[in-house]
Amino acid sequence: MAKTLIIGAGGVASVVIHKCCQNPEVFPDICIASRTKSKCDYFKTKLENQTKTKISTAQVDADNVGELIALIKDYKPEIIINVALPYQDLIIMEACLETGVHYLDTANYEPLDTAKFEYKWQWAYRERFEKAGLTAVLGCGFDPGVTGVFSAYTQKHHFDEINYIDILDANAGDHGYPFATNFNPEINIREVTANGSYWENGKFIETEPMEIKRVYNFPEIGEKDMYLLHHEELESLALNIKGIKRIRFFMTFSQNYLNHLKVLENVGMTSIVPIDFEGKKIVPLQFLKAVLPDPSSLGPRTKGKTNIGCIYQGIKDGKPKNYYLYNVCVHEDCYKEVGSQAISYTTGVPAMIGAMMVLTGKWKKSGVYNVEEFDPDPFMDALNKWGLPWKESFDPELVN
Ligand code: NDP
Repeated sequence: MAKTLIIGAGGVASVVIHKCCQNPEVFPDICIASRTKSKCDYFKTKLENQTKTKISTAQVDADNVGELIALIKDYKPEIIINVALPYQDLIIMEACLETGVHYLDTANYEPLDTAKFEYKWQWAYRERFEKAGLTAVLGCGFDPGVTGVFSAYTQKHHFDEINYIDILDANAGDHGYPFATNFNPEINIREVTANGSYWENGKFIETEPMEIKRVYNFPEIGEKDMYLLHHEELESLALNIKGIKRIRFFMTFSQNYLNHLKVLENVGMTSIVPIDFEGKKIVPLQFLKAVLPDPSSLGPRTKGKTNIGCIYQGIKDGKPKNYYLYNVCVHEDCYKEVGSQAISYTTGVPAMIGAMMVLTGKWKKSGVYNVEEFDPDPFMDALNKWGLPWKESFDPELVN
């Protein structure tokens, strides 16, 4: 009977846990392990009488490889779903290699002291996972994650060659707070205050943060301002999509969000450089995280929809073709189903599906892979079944 170890007990983990409990045939036994055990126990108490999945909990510091190995040897999982923070990725991968366990995460490794995320650290594990006969699935949330599966599906079924990809991530949800982030504030603010970049003709072109703005009329959401950001799937899609010439990533932000962010930046609150405060070293961004609303508390307050998807331009049978694949998610529906808002939902559902792909043998090859390197078809079917149905358009508005 396959056992699954879920590391982390935050917003995304909450959705993974709920979804595994809805799917006891594939997840008959889960262990929720995180830094704060009471958060793990909360989910066990909430769900154990509503599911056939057996739930246990544990306290673990995933920055400590010895502690992790001891937990894994004791629980003996087949796969780890890492929904802690990107800082823990490499240590959890090490522990998987040491104990012979498959690995899946939703965000690529980022060193704590430099706001720079890249796949190179995790891709360096390819040979060791291959030799160990283990699968590591990287970036299996929505973006990255579903955006890679969408790209593999589009390449397989719709194009001979994809030349341009625009990934559009729109959140028209309103949580009623003047300022809050929809997932871990530290990770989120590090991402949006960094320089932007897009990939064109074999290299990354860097931009100032929020330098490139477009307005897009999103299906089911309407017109929104969106800004070009660097995003991790650009790096892997540039390698894995045939004929690709340019990939861009855009995310919507309201003027209100940007104004708050600008002020916080201007006063130094988004800095990750430690400062002395009353005889103690503190990181301003970590302090800011402590005073902002906890993203996992936004669920009951958030109303509206998200729309995340990819617009593809390329060639099919010698002719130019455009194609748009996207998912629309309703915050209130997510909350009703699993007690979380749509940002956690759209990340947690694909993480559960990715683990299901590995456990059922549909995605099983030894090594370290990004999601677009697997067969997209069973994943696309599972998205429709498990709460993230996708829609397509053959005549989308394009981004200039
Ligand atoms: P949260 O901050 O809500 O949750 C993180 C959890 O990890 C917390 O429970 C935290 O414990 C736990 N944790 C942190 N450090 C450790 C440690 N050293 N040992 C054990 N547990 C630890 O974050 P989210 O749920 O919002 O995000 C989870 C991941 O999902 C992040 O990596 C994020 O980047 C990624 N993500 C990916 C997306 C995608 O589409 N691909 C979109 C959104 C998020 P404690 O409760 O004690 O703080």
